[in-house]
This record gives sequence, structure tokens and C-alpha cells, in this order.
Amino acid sequence: MKTDLILVAGAGGFIGGHLVADLRRKGFTRIRAVDCKPFDEWYQRFEGVENLVLDLSVREHCNTATAGASEVYNLAADMGGMGFIEKNKALCMLTVLINTHMLMAAKEHGVKRFFYASSACVYNADKQRDPNVTALKEADAYPAMPEDGYGWEKLFSERMCRHFREDFGVQARVARFHNVYGPHGTWDGGREKAPAAVCRKVIHAKATNDLTINIWGDGNQTRSFMYIDDCLFGIDRILHSDIVEPLNLGSSELVSINQLVDIVSDIAGVKLRRSYDLTAPKGVNGRNSDNTQIKKLLNWEPSIRLRDGLERTYAWIHDQYVARQKGQRQHAKS
Ligand code: NAD
Repeated sequence: MKTDLILVAGAGGFIGGHLVADLRRKGFTRIRAVDCKPFDEWYQRFEGVENLVLDLSVREHCNTATAGASEVYNLAADMGGMGFIEKNKALCMLTVLINTHMLMAAKEHGVKRFFYASSACVYNADKQRDPNVTALKEADAYPAMPEDGYGWEKLFSERMCRHFREDFGVQARVARFHNVYGPHGTWDGGREKAPAAVCRKVIHAKATNDLTINIWGDGNQTRSFMYIDDCLFGIDRILHSDIVEPLNLGSSELVSINQLVDIVSDIAGVKLRRSYDLTAPKGVNGRNSDNTQIKKLLNWEPSIRLRDGLERTYAWIHDQYVARQKGQRQHAKS
């Protein structure tokens, strides 16, 4: 029902902000948006939405957030790109408090559907040693050897969703996101992920006419990247399905980081000299999303071409960069 109360946890962040926008577009009239960040740091904030600053690692705050909610989207997490998660394992693991308390509150308040944002970082590291990857299928999370810190927390929280469903009837649905990117997300400061970081570096190189780019690792590591619009569509489909096992939600368009740089340089219309930092965090050698399951179960898979999504992302980061040069702040756009 469009008049049901919908909670978006982590709404000041990248995906949460887009989700609130999407729910508004779909005509939902009672949306509660919650994040622990002060309002002026939210990427998107909207009028007509109940915006709350709450720390969802605290049980009482989860009660306040979930009271009366029919559906909960839990996107709140202390996270970032490889540069952040490799150096902040304890902080990443503390996110377990958010999901634990959110599930407890959802149970108490009789929430009808609960979405949990898991990650491809749950997958066994042994399956990701070769840049010429075999795409990861859902079963590859076990036997468990996920990304240290962040990935362990995600895998544990997936299990908790399963057991809250089995034992308490909380209708939890879990998607394993593979690298989501788009406008209105982190693009500098240390938590940004590869697409945003590459866009920023290319924009900076062009603006300063210092036509070099520093790449983390040897650039041969491979990944797939999913544009935010595909992510939102997939979240909706998965939450409102009967699929109770965690499902990959990612693009299967595999590129190396060098190819990612090629595309962004082409969008910018520059050619850059490349230097490689072999000591920088670079994550696994190769990772792609096997979409057999999602195609079978939902008759759909993410399909927005990387080049198309990057053009929109590049344009937004370019605007942010220019605004910052002028001393303007661009956050909290509504
Ligand atoms: P984000 O960092 O932009 O958003 C997360 C938000 O959670 C932030 O605004 C943060 O302030 C908020 N938060 C952190 N701790 C909180 C707390 N204690 N109480 C309330 N809010 C809190 O990240 P995102 O890219 O939007 O990711 C959303 C979810 O998707 C996360 O769970 C993340 O782990 C998952 N995920 C994202 C990606 C990706 O590529 N972006 C990939 C895999 C999984």
C-alpha cells in the first residue's frame, strides 16, 4: 500500500538516498529516512519525508526507527571502498550491532518485509585469486572465507536474517550487491569506491593539466560494476519476492581496472600516463557476478552498460569537483 510506512535505514548514504527518491517517485506517502550523519552530510534529503538522525547501532534508536513501519530497508553500515575496509576491520564488524538491533526491532514491531544489503565480499577468497574469473554463484560463499572484517560481518548478518526468518517469522530478504556506483555517492575522502575514485582522479588530472593517474595495484584486477538504477530495481524485485536465499545483485559486465580507466578517460576526452601503486589496497584479483539464479528466479538481470552509467556518474562528480573549487558544498541536495 502506498500509504504504508516505509523505513529506509542509511538514507543519508548513497544507495539509501536513491531509494528514498525512488519510493517518492513510486508514490509512497509515508517514508521515514534515518541515518546517523548530521543532515548537512546526507547525499540526498527530501521534503515530505520524515527525516531522522538516529544511531541504529543502539537498540532504542532501532525501536524508534521501526515503530509502525510495514517495510524496512536496512542499508546502514560503516563501510567504504577497499582503502577503508582493509584498514578499518573492527569498525566494519561493529556494523553487526546495526543489523542485530534492527532485526530485533523489526520482530518486535511486526515489520512485514525486511531487506538486508549484503555484499559480494562474502565470497570465498580462494575463488577470487585469478583475474580471469569464473563468476561467483551464490553457493560460492561456503565454505566460508570471506573478506576479513567487512565480509565476515556481512556473512554473519545474512545468517542472522535467515534465522530470524526461520525462528521468528521475520520476512527477511537478502541481496549480495556487487560494486554499486552512480551519482550522489562518496567520491573522495577515503571511503570512495573504484568508479568514483577513477572519475575524480581523471577530472583532477584534466583540471590541473597534470596528465598522470595513479592506479591501485597493477590495474589487471577485474570487477563488475552495477549502476544505481539497476540496483534499485533489483532491491524492489527481491524484497517483494519469495526468494529467501541470498541472491547476487550485480552486473556481469566484467572489466579490469585498466579498462575502467580507459572508459573514464574516453568520457573525459584525455589520455593519461599511468603509474601503479603495488602497495595500495586492491582487494581480490578477480570478481564477477554469476547471474544464473537471478535470471531464473526473476527473469531479469542488471543490464545498464558500464559506459552509460559512468557518463552520468562522471558528470555528477565533475559538478561536485567544480563546486568545491569554488568553495561551495554540494551535499544534502533535495
Ligand atoms: P554509504 O556509506 O553511502 O551509506 C551507508 C549509510 O549508513 C551512511 O550514510 C552512514 O552514515 C549510515 N550509517 C552508518 N552507521 C550508522 C548507524 N550506526 N546508524 C545509522 N546510520 C548509519 O554506503 P552505500 O554504498 O549506500 O551502501 C549501502 C549498503 O549497501 C551497505 O550496507 C553496504 O555495505 C552495502 N553494499 C554497498 C555496495 C556498494 O558498492 N555501494 C556494495 C556491497 C554492499
